[in-house]
Amino acid sequence: HNDTFEYPLRPDQMDWSLEHYPNNSAPTVLDVGCGFGGLTVALATILPEERILGMEIRAKVTEYVRLRIVALRKEHLGQYQNASVMRTNSMKFLPNYFAKHSLQKIFFCFPDPHFKRKNHPRRIVSERLLSEYAYVLAPNAKLYTITDVKELHDWHVEHCDKHPLFERISESELADDPCVKAMQTETEESKKVDRNCGNKYYAVYRRIQQDPVTV
Ligand code: SAM
Repeated sequence: HNDTFEYPLRPDQMDWSLEHYPNNSAPTVLDVGCGFGGLTVALATILPEERILGMEIRAKVTEYVRLRIVALRKEHLGQYQNASVMRTNSMKFLPNYFAKHSLQKIFFCFPDPHFKRKNHPRRIVSERLLSEYAYVLAPNAKLYTITDVKELHDWHVEHCDKHPLFERISESELADDPCVKAMQTETEESKKVDRNCGNKYYAVYRRIQQDPVTV
């Protein structure tokens, strides 16, 4: 993963029409660490008004997802125009790609657990990164996490609970959200967990309206 990545200096320098979506419209939903893209393509149908971007650091896996979307677009003419994938390190370049408050949803599905304490700073949810996610998410937008690792789930909840710009969404409110079902069933990792009869733990947070008052 030590290659250098090209990235725009500012979001307005990004031309999304070149490789991603018609009309240079920017993405509104991120599937971070999308792997083989099961959720990315499922969300394209569930959220037809949104533009879904899978982000993946591995080159071969990204190419697999790209070809998967090309094939779906061919097979279902006019559909899947709102799904795309990009190879990048999402821990480094988010504010380069996405304008403030431009995203409606961000998904972290079965992220790498980085068990050892010395690797905890590499976890995709952290105090610093949550502030970046709050910056790119619109007020009332949602952040989704799911994992089969209880310890990592507890980490997600602890960090999101204590962040001033996120509040947890109740189970009853989530019952109506088709994305909650999708993240439990459509990612390749969730299917693997089901085959092994493992547990899945999820939490969903709202990016709250009010920026904290600085005195
Ligand atoms: N979300 C998928 C699923 O549920 O099937 C894949 C889960 S897999 C365990 C974690 C994925 O995150 C891997 O494909 C890995 O390459 C990717 N990844 C790890 N760090 C990343 C980063 N900094 N930026 C983008 N992708 C990353």
